[in-house]
Amino acid sequence: MKKKEVDKSKALDRRNFLKLGAAGAALGAVTLPSKAREAVASKIDEKTAGNFIKTHDDFPHEVRADYKPHSNKDLIFTGAFWGFHPEEDIVQSGKAFSAKTYMHFEEKKGFNQLAKALNAGAWSLHNAVTPLSSQGISQEGIFKWEQSRKKEGEFRPNHDWINKHQYKFNSKKEAADSIKRAARLYGADLVGITHRDKRWDYSDFVDAHAIMEGRMEDAVYGWEKFPFEPKSVIVLAFEMDYEGIATAPTDVEGAAAGTMYSSMTKVAYQLSIFLKQLGYQAVPCGNDTGLSIPYAIAAGLGEGSRMGNLITYKYGPRVRLAKVYTDFDFVEYDKPIEFGAMEFCKNCMRCADACPGKAISFDKEPTFEPTYEGTSWFNAKGVKKYYMNAKKCFHTWGEFGTDCGSCMASCPYNKPDFWHHRLVDKITAAMPGPVHDFMREMDIAFGYGDVDNPKKIDVFFDPRGRSYNGQ
Ligand code: SF4
Ligand code: SF4
Repeated sequence: MKKKEVDKSKALDRRNFLKLGAAGAALGAVTLPSKAREAVASKIDEKTAGNFIKTHDDFPHEVRADYKPHSNKDLIFTGAFWGFHPEEDIVQSGKAFSAKTYMHFEEKKGFNQLAKALNAGAWSLHNAVTPLSSQGISQEGIFKWEQSRKKEGEFRPNHDWINKHQYKFNSKKEAADSIKRAARLYGADLVGITHRDKRWDYSDFVDAHAIMEGRMEDAVYGWEKFPFEPKSVIVLAFEMDYEGIATAPTDVEGAAAGTMYSSMTKVAYQLSIFLKQLGYQAVPCGNDTGLSIPYAIAAGLGEGSRMGNLITYKYGPRVRLAKVYTDFDFVEYDKPIEFGAMEFCKNCMRCADACPGKAISFDKEPTFEPTYEGTSWFNAKGVKKYYMNAKKCFHTWGEFGTDCGSCMASCPYNKPDFWHHRLVDKITAAMPGPVHDFMREMDIAFGYGDVDNPKKIDVFFDPRGRSYNGQ
């Protein structure tokens, strides 16, 4: 792991830190209207973020020489639903999950018809146009890999074809800025660009439709079917609703996640059309085709974590990720960042405490292999990180009949987008490990991150509860 020299002029020193604290305190006390205060605070946050966010030239986790790209067959969903790892407990959890999703409602808040209807609406666009991409299946609906060109005079209303004229940007920075602006316009909250890295691509692909049709000889295929040599991967992050995720583990939490799965579908597709109309090849993806989290880390969107999710600087782990593979490479790539989240994970463990499935590791330090007992074919081994047990997690989903999200809801980095929360994150980044224990306890004392609390459902549906962003 090679760390970039920190710019001395920007390095976090006591003076910078005190300046920041004083600015924050003054701002907190000032009697500006809340929106104005937020705007000024955001500016301070932007100006000071550089003091706390380090960049890396290389991928920031150590990767062992024997690391192999993960097979699409070894995702927990393909094990559960497509027969590649027919372990009885996973198959049963898959059946329970499918039977309860959306339709099997209960009286209990968060699992009643209101919550199920909310969840169904949230997922509806994803389910209509890219139905299995959330399970890691490539080429679903509008995420198809086809790269076609329009014939002269042919009427093609959907613009899903490659323009024969290739637009040339004046600089790599202009190209990156334009792509990011387009992605933000379409609805992404964060955008990063990195070079294609075969380590993070699936080594093969599962054709679920071939399996459904009994064509088992076509059930698995390789990269030779990908229509071009990808050079760059654009990674998109989507903020999930804070109060929706706070209801974890319920269908309302599932709705917060599903809403962003639908956004992933929309935005990744729109961005692929933008690139095609600039004259370049592009394939939009959700959870399919490659591992989104290492790609997001490489693209500078955040850090890895104990729970296994990406932790972003602005939204913590409360994001979903989509990707666009393209052959366009005249572009400025982003660098991985570090703001102290992985370090904080060493002492925190709130997600592991909150996990109803006991799926998250309590190991103090990251490791190259899972340290839990039992099968672990679903883990991509050889990267130094915390390994969670996706099998145990999936059992919990089967039990609830919806995705859970308690890990995200409990994480101290999961906060409404308030300036003073990022001030706390900065203090955390500047302080040594023992202080992290104190920060963790303060987070609990302030009432953040409790899960399985039915009152959170009332807050979600109460218009007065939606005041966290100052509206
Ligand atoms: S989603 Fe729930 S069961 Fe799965 S790891 Fe997170 S807290 Fe545990
Ligand atoms: S809850 Fe704590 S240990 Fe878990 S990912 Fe968040 S910061 Fe890390």
